[in-house]
Amino acid sequence: MIILMKPQASAKDVEFVVNRARSLGLKTHVSEQAGQKLIGLLGDMHGINVKILEALRGVERVQSMSRPFRLASREFKSDPTVINVKGCEIGGREVVAMAGPCSVEGRDQLLRSAEAVKESGAKFLRGGAFKPRSSPYSFRGLAEEGLQILAEARERTGLLIITEVMSSEQLPLVSQYADILQIGTRNMHNFTLLHEVGQTRMPVLLKRGMMSTLQELLLSAEYVLSQGNSDVILCERGIRTFETYTRNTLDINAVPALRELTHLPVVVDPSHATGKSSLVKATSAASIAAGADGLLIEVHPDPDLAWSDGAQSLTPQAFSELMEQARSVATAVGRSLGDSG
Ligand code: PEP
Ligand code: MN
Repeated sequence: MIILMKPQASAKDVEFVVNRARSLGLKTHVSEQAGQKLIGLLGDMHGINVKILEALRGVERVQSMSRPFRLASREFKSDPTVINVKGCEIGGREVVAMAGPCSVEGRDQLLRSAEAVKESGAKFLRGGAFKPRSSPYSFRGLAEEGLQILAEARERTGLLIITEVMSSEQLPLVSQYADILQIGTRNMHNFTLLHEVGQTRMPVLLKRGMMSTLQELLLSAEYVLSQGNSDVILCERGIRTFETYTRNTLDINAVPALRELTHLPVVVDPSHATGKSSLVKATSAASIAAGADGLLIEVHPDPDLAWSDGAQSLTPQAFSELMEQARSVATAVGRSLGDSG
C-alpha cells in the first residue's frame, strides 16, 4: 500500500500519519514525487483497516500497489534513481563503463588492466578477489590480497572499484575496499546476504540470477531497499536458455522492461551474457541502444592467459574499439559515455 499525501499536507501531517502506520505494526518509507509526499507501507497489511489511514489529516488517498516489489517499483517512485558513487552518477545522462578482468590475478595484471580501461573511458575498475567458480578446483581469487591490489589501482588511476562479495562473513572486509559491492548471479537468492548489504550504506550492483525472472530480481532488490539502502543497481548478465552457442542468452528485453517496472538503474554485462569476446562489442551497443545505464565488461591484458573467463575477455585494444562504437550509440540515444584518457 502507498499513502499519497495532499500537496498542501504539512511535515507534521506526514509525521502523524507515519506514527499512526507504525502503531499499526507497519514499517514506512517516505519519499517525494513532484512535490507530493508518498508514504510506502511495508509489512503485513492483513487485517489493517485502510479507512483509518485514509481519514487522517493531509491524506489524499491510500492506494494498493499492483506489484509485489514495492520500493523498487515505478508506482512508488516515478523518477529514475540516480546513484552518486563518489561523484560518479549511475542512472543519469551518462552511460558508465565498468571494466577490468574477471579475477584479480596479481599486481602487474591488475595495474595494466586498470591503466588500459581508464585510457578508454571506463569509470570503474572491476575485478573479483572472491570468485564463485563452478569447480572447487578452479582459481577462487586472491581474497584480501586481491582487494589490496584493487585499492592500489584506485589510488594510481582514480578509477572506482566494483568487486564481488560472496557471503555475509566477507562483507566487512570487502566493504573496506569496494566502492560498489557486486552480488553475483548465484547469490541473487541469498536473502541473508541481501538483508545484510541492505543494512550497509554501500552501493550495490545486483546481478540477475541466471534462471530468475525480472520479478524475482526486483524482489531481491527489495530485500536491500527494505533495509534502508536505496543505492541498488540492477544488472542483466544473461540467462540460461536452450541455446548452447553462447554461454548465456542476453535478455535484451530486460533493459526496457526493467525501465518500465522500476526506477532503479540498469547495467548490462555482455561478457557473461555471451561468453564470447567476439560478441561483446555488438551486444554492448545493443544494450546502450535499449537504454542501459552502464556496461560491465571483462578486459584482460592477455585474455589467452587469464585465470578465469578468458574466452569472453577483451584485449585493451578491443575494449577501446568497443568504447568508440558505444560512444556513438550513446550519442544517438541522447546520452554520453565517458571520454577516453
Ligand atoms: C563476474 O562478474 O565475474 C561473475 C562471476 O559474474 P556472474 O555472477 O554474473 O556470473
Ligand atoms: Mn567472470
